Amino acid sequence: MIPVATPEPVYNEFTGKPLADGVPVFEAALLGLEPPRYCAYCARRMIVQVSPHGWTARCSRHGELDSKSRER
Ligand SMILES: [Zn+2]
Repeated sequence: MIPVATPEPVYNEFTGKPLADGVPVFEAALLGLEPPRYCAYCARRMIVQVSPHGWTARCSRHGELDSKSRER
């Protein structure tokens, strides 16, 4: 869950690089199949746990994401 006060994502969740660099995002990532490795808001390494049902990724500053929140 991302706090309401959090601004737009700034960093690529998979590379930790600024989004402004225009790094392409993998197809699997867009589908929510691939857990993010870096927080999109602060580029910290996130604690990623993969389970048979999906994944969770936690930033110590910005809280937890999970694969369910990415499903479309
Ligand atoms: Zn963060």
